[in-house]
Amino acid sequence: MSSHRGMASRPLIPTFFSGLARHPRPARGATRVESPPVIKLKSPREIALMREAGRVVAKALDQVRRLAVPGACTAEMDQAVAAIFQEHDALPLFLNYPSAVKGKPPFPAVICASVNEHVVHGIPNRRPLREGDIVSVDTGCKVGGWCGDAAITLAIGAVRPEVQKLLDVTNETLNLAIRAMGRCRYWSEVASLMERFVKSQGYYVVEKFVGHGIGQDMHEEPQVPNFVSKALRQHDIKLEPGIVLAIEPMVAIGTKEVRTLDDGWTVETKDRRPSAHFEHTVAMTPEGPRVLTYLED
Ligand code: MG
Repeated sequence: MSSHRGMASRPLIPTFFSGLARHPRPARGATRVESPPVIKLKSPREIALMREAGRVVAKALDQVRRLAVPGACTAEMDQAVAAIFQEHDALPLFLNYPSAVKGKPPFPAVICASVNEHVVHGIPNRRPLREGDIVSVDTGCKVGGWCGDAAITLAIGAVRPEVQKLLDVTNETLNLAIRAMGRCRYWSEVASLMERFVKSQGYYVVEKFVGHGIGQDMHEEPQVPNFVSKALRQHDIKLEPGIVLAIEPMVAIGTKEVRTLDDGWTVETKDRRPSAHFEHTVAMTPEGPRVLTYLED
C-alpha cells in the first residue's frame, strides 16, 4: 500500500511516527530544525524473516493473477487472498487500516483493487471485470511480526496497445529501479532514472503517493518517492545494507493529477484515463538489492 507524500498528509503513516520522540519541541527561542527521518536498518536475520512475509504476499498475488479473467470480480480476488493469508497464519495489513480522510471508515478489505482510471486504494467489489480492463492489486501481510507489501497490475484479456504499454512501462520502471539500487549510492539517483524513463515513454509519474520503508510496520521511514523532489534532496536516502524499501511506481497515461473519491479511499486520475501500479519489497544486502516479494528464490 502506498503512503501519502509529505508531512502535511502523513496520516496514512501511523500516528506514533510523527510523535514527539522524532521531533522534540525546540527550547524557547531556539530555531526549529526538521530532523532527518530515522531509518531502522534490518539485520540479515530480520531480512530472512521479512522474506517469509514476502513469499506469502507473492503467493497471494500469483493466485490473483489466475483469477484475472473476464467475468471475475475483485471481491473474489480479495477472498482468495484472505484464504491464503489465513492458511499461512499471516496477518492482513490493509484490513481496517485507518483512512487518511477524516470521518471516513477504515479500509474494508485485504487487497486494494483499482480498476482502469483508479490508481491505488480501490475497494474490491462484485462488478464483473470486462475484457480490456486493467486491475491493480496491492496487498500486504505480517508473518512472525515482519511485513511484506507488493502490487501488480493485470490485463483482463486483450487491452488497447497504449494500455499494454502502460503496464509494460510501469513494470519496467519498478525493475529498472531495483537494478539501479545495485549501483546507485542514494535513492535520488534511482528516482531520477524512474522519472526520466516514464517521461521518455510519454507517460506521467503520480506524485501524490510514494513508497516507504517497511519492517515490523508496513509504513516506516523513509518516504520513497518515484521522482526527485526538494524534500528528497534535503534528506536523501542512503542505499546501505539493511535498508528495506517498498518501491511502488504509479504511472498514468494522461496526467499526474489525482483525486480521492467520496469513499475516502479510492484514488483516481483527474482525466479518468488509466493508470498502473507495481510494487516490490526490496532489501539492500552486501551482495546488492534482493527482492523479498518473489514467489521463489
Ligand atoms: Mg506499499
